[in-house]
Amino acid sequence: MSRTNEATLDAPFGVVGTPLQDWQASRALRRVPVVSIDELIPPGTRLVVVAPHPDDEILACGGLLAAMAGRAADVHLMSVTDGDASHPGSQQWPVARLRAQRRVESECAMARLGLDLARLSWQRLALPDARVAEHEAALAQAISAQLHPGDYVLATWRHDGHGDHEAVGRAAAQAAQQQGATLLEVPVWAWHWAHPEDPRLPWGQACKLVLSDDQLERKRDAIRAHTSQLHEDPSTGAPPVLDRSTLERLLQPFELVFARVTPT
Ligand SMILES: [Zn+2]
Repeated sequence: MSRTNEATLDAPFGVVGTPLQDWQASRALRRVPVVSIDELIPPGTRLVVVAPHPDDEILACGGLLAAMAGRAADVHLMSVTDGDASHPGSQQWPVARLRAQRRVESECAMARLGLDLARLSWQRLALPDARVAEHEAALAQAISAQLHPGDYVLATWRHDGHGDHEAVGRAAAQAAQQQGATLLEVPVWAWHWAHPEDPRLPWGQACKLVLSDDQLERKRDAIRAHTSQLHEDPSTGAPPVLDRSTLERLLQPFELVFARVTPT
C-alpha cells in the first residue's frame, strides 16, 4: 500500500473511505461464494504472490498466506518495490532508512504469519516506488520468467485505484496468460473507494476465503510488524499511512479474491 500515488479512479485518497459497517451490510458481498484454500490453490501447485509495496502481501492476502503456512516451499513472493516513497520529505524516514526498515518489517510480518522464511522463495525487484507503471513491460517479463504452466499468480487487482497496484495487476495478467498460469487478483484500495454494491467490482468472478480466528489473528499481528506505516510522522505531520478505518476494512474475517474458480 502507499498513498503517494494518485488514485486513478474518482475517489481521492486521504478522505475517510467506505466504512466497515457499510461493507458488513453489503448484499453483493454476502452473495459471493466461499471457497476453501485447497479449492483456491490446489495442493501440489505453486503460488506466486506479486506485491507492489512491502505490506501488500499481508494486507491483500495475509490470511491466505497464513492458510498456506505448511506449504511455504510452494510460495514464491515477488516484492516489486521497496516501498521507499511512503514518507516523502521525511526527516524521520530518509529514503535509505525507510528502504531498510520496510524490508525488515516485511520479513518480520511474513514470519508472524507462520511461514518458514528458510523455505520461502523471495525475490525483490526494487522497482521505483510510485512509478511501477513506467516499468510495466519489464515487470511482466520478470513475472513471466517465474511462472510455469499450472502455477497460481496472485496480484493486486488491475483496477484497484492505485497506479502501482494496477500496473502489478496488468503485468501479472499478461504473464499469467503467456505462461498458462491462473491469475488471482485481490482488491486493497478498492475497499476504500468502492461502495458496497459497486458495479465496478467484478462480483461475478469473486470468491471469498473465510479466515479462521487463528489466521485472522496472524494477519493482524503481521500488520503490526509494519511500524513505519502505522504511526504519524512527527517530522512532516503526515498521518499514518494505514489508519484505523483502513485496517478495519482489511481485517474482515475473509479475503476477497477475483478469480475464475468454481467452488465445489
Ligand atoms: Zn500498496
